[in-house]
Amino acid sequence: MNKQMQLQALAQQILDDSVTPDLKAQATQLVFGAGNPDADIVFIGEAPGKNEDLKGEPFVGAAGKFLNEMLASIGMERSNIYITNIVKYRPPNNRDPLPEEKKAFLPYLQAQLEIIQPKIVVTLGRHSMNCFLPDLQISQVHGEPKRIKLAEKNHPGEVLQLVIVPLFHPAAALYNGGMRQTLLDDFALIPEIIKKINES
Ligand code: URA
Repeated sequence: MNKQMQLQALAQQILDDSVTPDLKAQATQLVFGAGNPDADIVFIGEAPGKNEDLKGEPFVGAAGKFLNEMLASIGMERSNIYITNIVKYRPPNNRDPLPEEKKAFLPYLQAQLEIIQPKIVVTLGRHSMNCFLPDLQISQVHGEPKRIKLAEKNHPGEVLQLVIVPLFHPAAALYNGGMRQTLLDDFALIPEIIKKINES
């Protein structure tokens, strides 16, 4: 099975397992992830908003538009990356995902990463960062690559080595000009981080 087929099977698994049934009942559809399953870089946001819920794709609203601009600023586009969220159904009224909702989706997020095997995971916002780096403050470590190791759940004995790059959430920049520049500056570090990983 190629990666795309494995991802489709995983999306079906989420439906079959009836993950977060309350969220599912209120959402239009599962927003599993989109982009290139062979990408070296995966972006992870929090949860779908209204536009994502309607379209079935992550980051297609205003925050997604700014994300596309930031990708373009480093010569990348959506087809170069894979993008998903921790929580894969829209929380009602765009509230923050609850701890138990994040916890329920975490095994599936890890399985997604085990299939894609990226080199870099860019976390967007503190919820996403804290899934991998629970003790860090985003205001202190944004833009700083951190190496982590995850014991693979679906391949016992194997270890998934990832470089996590914590960034602020692009939605935070929509109403805050200073944050916009911080995000652009942090984004500008990504090509160098990729280069260093490829050399090591
Ligand atoms: N914000 C997120 O965290 N994810 C999306 O898909 C859209 C907005």
